[in-house]
Amino acid sequence: MLDTYNPPWMTEDLEIFKDAVNKFYTREFAPHSEKWTKQGMVDRDAWNKAGAAGLLCASIPEEFGGAGGDYRHEAILAEEMERTGVVGFGNTVHSLICAHYLNAYGTDEQKAHILPKMASGEMVCAIAMTEPGTGSDLQSVKTTALKEGNQYVINGSKTFISNGQHADLVIVVAKTDPSQGAKGISLMLVETNGTEGFARGRNLDKMGQHAADTSELFFDNVKVPATSVLGGEEGRGFYQLMQQLPAERLIIAAQGLGAMERAIDITVEYTRERKTFGNAIFDYQNTQYKLAECKATWMAARAMVDQLTMQLLKGELDANSAAAAKFWVTERQCEVIDTCLQFFGGYGYMDEYPISRMYTDARVQRIYGGSNEIMRMLVARSL
Ligand SMILES: Cc1cc2nc3c(=O)[nH]c(=O)nc-3n(C[C@H](O)[C@H](O)[C@H](O)COP(=O)(O)OP(=O)(O)OC[C@H]3O[C@@H](n4cnc5c(N)ncnc54)[C@H](O)[C@@H]3O)c2cc1C
Repeated sequence: MLDTYNPPWMTEDLEIFKDAVNKFYTREFAPHSEKWTKQGMVDRDAWNKAGAAGLLCASIPEEFGGAGGDYRHEAILAEEMERTGVVGFGNTVHSLICAHYLNAYGTDEQKAHILPKMASGEMVCAIAMTEPGTGSDLQSVKTTALKEGNQYVINGSKTFISNGQHADLVIVVAKTDPSQGAKGISLMLVETNGTEGFARGRNLDKMGQHAADTSELFFDNVKVPATSVLGGEEGRGFYQLMQQLPAERLIIAAQGLGAMERAIDITVEYTRERKTFGNAIFDYQNTQYKLAECKATWMAARAMVDQLTMQLLKGELDANSAAAAKFWVTERQCEVIDTCLQFFGGYGYMDEYPISRMYTDARVQRIYGGSNEIMRMLVARSL
């Protein structure tokens, strides 16, 4: 089993945390995978259960209801989710991304009002950057948040938004000054419950990640108080987004690691059991060579991600190293899963086999969080 490996940043306390997370996911979430996949989203009470178990906002200070941990706790949560085969639970977006925008830039009132509710699961959060007309080119967003008296009026539409059906709070990327590019962007905090003009669109049909509520969101003259600009100051949104990106991209790579580990582990197990021509498939040299290559690929990816995790913990992770890990590891993830799937023969193509789902789930890793082409552009700029 690959998960017996311990990264250099692991401590005894973190191992206990990892074990508890693994048990929680295995017992509480993994048995619902099929149901959540069919209904296109996790049950709402999954969020409350995770909150009660202390798994939401694990890296947010205790004074705001978090568990007072750091990035390593989030990495463990992300990797264990993949290892245990939990589907659709958008905690990375909620805890690592959204909560950290609030923690880093929120006013005292914004933090005190929102973070404890996010930590308990009372409030599920989404971040809405992408629009039907723009994804990679974030500076060109068309959604506006224009000041009128003591409020902002938001108009626009967003698409592909993770946690979109469950979200009680959406961090909306909008232009508070449409005459400007990046400098005109602000992050608007929009509470959705009972908010006039806010509407959830379709929970989108996808190739994979069927249990994730990836949605369209619409804003039609949505009025929010003047205090809804994250950090209280207009025009800071693009800068705020850029600052958080290294951690967001590294965690996508961490998810890739967890998925590779699971793929290799279940393939070893399957090929040891399945026989053809009187031999276990694992006993063929082709199987052993291919799986050995998968393990070596995983080890290289692991070393890369662990190294960058250490840099992140020291506050030294730069944007282009995180971008390199995001594109390189996610592409290795897709290759490893594809190699593993082949050993399942026809069963590997059947939805009911986890390796088949892992194959379609993995594909989006190369698209979201900044597509892998954009990641390459960032890395190239550093050369
Ligand atoms: C399952 C899922 C979940 C998502 N969750 C969220 C979320 O929670 N919040 C959110 O805001 N968004 C989310 N997204 C959106 C995602 O981040 C975007 O799809 C992604 O950034 C790409 O944007 P786009 O789809 O508009 O593609 P486009 O920007 O139209 O790009 C299309 C293709 O062209 C390539 N390309 C674009 N520009 C260049 C260039 N300059 N040079 C070379 N190639 C280029 C891209 O790499 C891509 O391959 C999610 C998407 C999916 C599928």
